[in-house]
Amino acid sequence: MAPDNKTEKKRAAKMNAAATIPTLHTELLIDGQLTVGQGMAEAILNPASGDTLVAVADASLEQLESAIEAANRAFPSWSRTTPAQRSAALLAIADAIDKRADTLARLEALNCGKPLHLARQDDIPATADVFRFFAGAVRCQQGQLAGEYIPGHTSMVRRDPVGVVASIAPWNYPLMMAAWKIAPALAAGNTLVFKPSEHTPLSILALAPALADILPPGVLNIVCGGGESVGSHLVSHAKVRMVSLTGDIVTGQKILQAAARTLKRTHLELGGKAPVIVCNDADLEAVVQGIRTHGYYNAGQDCTAACRIYAQAGIHDRLVAELGDAVSGIRFARKRDQDNEISPLISARQRDRVASFVERALGQPHIERVTGAAVHSGPGYYYQPTLLAGCKQQDEIVQREVFGPVVTVTRFDQLEQAVDWANDSEYGLASSVWTQNLDKAFQIANRLQYGCTWINTHFMLASEMPHGGLKRSGYGKDLSSDSLQDYSVVRHIMARHGDRLD
Ligand code: NAD
Repeated sequence: MAPDNKTEKKRAAKMNAAATIPTLHTELLIDGQLTVGQGMAEAILNPASGDTLVAVADASLEQLESAIEAANRAFPSWSRTTPAQRSAALLAIADAIDKRADTLARLEALNCGKPLHLARQDDIPATADVFRFFAGAVRCQQGQLAGEYIPGHTSMVRRDPVGVVASIAPWNYPLMMAAWKIAPALAAGNTLVFKPSEHTPLSILALAPALADILPPGVLNIVCGGGESVGSHLVSHAKVRMVSLTGDIVTGQKILQAAARTLKRTHLELGGKAPVIVCNDADLEAVVQGIRTHGYYNAGQDCTAACRIYAQAGIHDRLVAELGDAVSGIRFARKRDQDNEISPLISARQRDRVASFVERALGQPHIERVTGAAVHSGPGYYYQPTLLAGCKQQDEIVQREVFGPVVTVTRFDQLEQAVDWANDSEYGLASSVWTQNLDKAFQIANRLQYGCTWINTHFMLASEMPHGGLKRSGYGKDLSSDSLQDYSVVRHIMARHGDRLD
């Protein structure tokens, strides 16, 4: 039931008033024990201010070995638990998240600079929902029928877990990405070593004590550290049977190379550069509102961000003008949390990377700055929400993932041209089409080579529906029962029993 206005206001006031920083947990979870990392210490920053929040020590090589060994030891018994038993554990994790929702939201806000009210309203409930979805899904999987496909022999198909899974997450939605990786893998009966991004470990470490209480030792281990050190050690370890990554394409390529040596399964969710096709007959107000929200949410640090607009000639000029106005009103870096709509970039490096993309784009005579295109002058790693018009298909800013609050507009005349341009991309994760003619919407949607196409909306995710890419955006599916399949293997069991009853 949705909270009434009074309750919502009270909670917002309470969250604003409590300027206290929650306890910052820095201990790793290895073999059921909370333990201080013995590797190098990494400074964890608040990107909204640039201040150091705390230092988290990486896992040492010995600790990594212990985590993998623990997961390996835990596998035989966890993999033989019933779906009902695993479901109960996932439901308990969801309850633990709900119970700590305010604290976890506050940690996401501190560690990513996200507006607290958005972390509380979006990230945390969505995270708990993922655990609840897989708790249900694992109890009602479907598949092929058992039967006598050879006379006198009954065949049946089992879905069994893969083994120890190394899961490696990015920084844009730390706890939610952890849930996308941990929930289906545990539900399918695997054991895990999970590594959060080196920038954003705080929320999952805060949940670690609860996870240690709920799960048997070794079933889920949490280790911190950098990609090239801790991450690559996990990926090349012989006892790790599968690697799941959400991250950059280049990271995905490195992981594939390392995984090839031991023939591991891989599950890759990589970048995106979502095309947004706006037809002449689209509802302009809805388009403007949709792109203002879904192009800039989380400062565009989202692999599905609505960042590459193709606008048909008849609507193009009005769209650029109205969207420019709307985007220039996006609020950020304000004192009062409720007044903010977007976060800073995760680091000074990421902000500078975004700035250099825009600088190179504006070096092209045909590209016009509609709004933004500057680093914010106050503290924190903010970049102004930016809209660039006049962009051409071959421009770097149209082709490459910026992962920041930058949206481009390219004009087109014929729908066929827009579909060709939308598909002319290394990426294949998400896309959208905006028109009031449903026939046209489906004709376009069916031709787009993307893991997801939204019609008259963008960026809406449901735990029940698969999320994942084509082409260089990767091939693993997150969410949905498809993800349970990715984290399990099909096995055929056949019994010979003759075919005569005597
Ligand atoms: P990243 O690839 O730099 O890092 C992701 C994770 O991989 C981190 O935990 C990092 O430590 C680890 N890593 C880096 N190098 C490694 C190596 N050699 N071996 C093992 N692990 C390694 O990505 P990021 O900067 O954290 O996140 C941004 C990227 O993630 C963007 O490209 C974005 O599009 C993508 N992303 C994709 C999805 C999706 O669902 N497809 C969702 C969110 C983010």
